[in-house]
Amino acid sequence: MKAFSPRSVSRSVPRRVVASLLVAALLVAAAFCLAACARKDKPAVFGEVPLYDIDLTYDGNDSLSLAEEIVFLNDTGNDLDDVRLHLYANAFSEGAEHPPYLPTEKDDFFIEGESFGGIEISNAEINGKTIDYEISEDGQVLVLPADAEAGEVLEIAVEADITLPRCRSRFGVSERTVNLAGFYPSLCVYENGAWREEGYTAVGDPFYSEISSFYVTLAAPEGYLAAGSGSMLENTATDGTATFVFSAENVRDFALCLSREFEVLSASFLVDGRNVTVDYYTLGQSDAEGALAAVVSALETFSATFGAYPYPRLTVAESHIHAGGMEYGSFVVLDASVTDPAALRDVAVHETAHQWWFGVVGSDQLNTAWLDEGLTEFCTAYYHLLRGDGDTYRAFVSSAKENYLVYRRLPAAVGFDGAMSRPLSSFLTDGEYVAVTYAKGVLLFDTLLQLAGRDKFDAALADYFSSNAYAIATPADLTKSFVRAGFDASGIIASFAAGTEIIN
Ligand SMILES: [Zn+2]
Repeated sequence: MKAFSPRSVSRSVPRRVVASLLVAALLVAAAFCLAACARKDKPAVFGEVPLYDIDLTYDGNDSLSLAEEIVFLNDTGNDLDDVRLHLYANAFSEGAEHPPYLPTEKDDFFIEGESFGGIEISNAEINGKTIDYEISEDGQVLVLPADAEAGEVLEIAVEADITLPRCRSRFGVSERTVNLAGFYPSLCVYENGAWREEGYTAVGDPFYSEISSFYVTLAAPEGYLAAGSGSMLENTATDGTATFVFSAENVRDFALCLSREFEVLSASFLVDGRNVTVDYYTLGQSDAEGALAAVVSALETFSATFGAYPYPRLTVAESHIHAGGMEYGSFVVLDASVTDPAALRDVAVHETAHQWWFGVVGSDQLNTAWLDEGLTEFCTAYYHLLRGDGDTYRAFVSSAKENYLVYRRLPAAVGFDGAMSRPLSSFLTDGEYVAVTYAKGVLLFDTLLQLAGRDKFDAALADYFSSNAYAIATPADLTKSFVRAGFDASGIIASFAAGTEIIN
């Protein structure tokens, strides 16, 4: 059910009216949902998802002010005493117990020595009433006391001041860009009767979220260009201030990247008869045209194989993020330090594949990171095979095997654990995480491809995509899709996940 399109709301409509419209739309959705949403594995229907309306003002230096309204339908099935939101930005604060980088990465993470940031909440309201909120000891969870019955709609409002650290990361001011990911208070996932509150980790992608829709207005000093999730509805400049308005519907999260140096390349093509546009904001990367072509080609190839890319746009930004690349809802960032054309193409294909695995089909990145990273890394290889280049595919798989075996052969005293399904916090180094989650993930999916054959393998992944679209999938869901496609993958998936398989 399509219940509400933020794009249909004019900016001349006062914010309160916008919020009321959102609440009305959700109440209608809630009535339908209570009658028809009993099935847990049903793809989310637009209109049930949380709606974020965020106003941002960036000062051009290291300060960002935020006013956020969230319309939240309590579809947890339980009456709630509180609503909890992540404050990931506080992982970047001075003295954080788990900083966002490993000790060995520190020099490359910071630009000119240590720099700290965070988010300070100044006000919180629920349904128009100011409330006494609490913040967890590590600063990363905002607890809003609320008496929310199952099926009730809450209108949450939060105001905050954000300080941006100077670093090459998902969040902060880097050499030529401003990276804004994980910056806004975001709803924790509620599952098995509790809020999932895990904080930031140095290894892996610590984000875990439900599909949501966003309407974001950003004011910044004139001269900045903003790239971000969704579609840019407005881009205007008055009296030295540039204003950008974004709308992103049914996405996993929302992120932005700002720079005074962006140049924009664009390409448009048809997916299932729909026009899809890729906007590539480059800082002058040596092979930006090649990377743009790889993104377009990957969107077409994966759409034809797994199911159509559902959004009207994918935005790509080049930035300094110390991580190769990073995926967000209908938005990806490619690290400016990746200059080799073939490596840049692979990063571009990898981040594009994440739009299927992470974006539309979510998974628990904190405990089963392989489910999106392993499959996405496999797709980076599979892209070549799907385009008829079997040699590059096989070279990719061989390289993944070598990478994994190097780690597996480490002396037992080092404590290497080949289990793929385990918490991010259990990985001691980034190398171990990559070997077990990415490289071994490639080997798992290559094994499934070899044993099931192309037809059943593609059918299984297409089923996995359509059956779990806009929801959060588990390894059991992946197994079910293979079974439905005619191949019992349960033993293979379980043994790789547990680390009991034999790879020589
Ligand atoms: Zn990835």
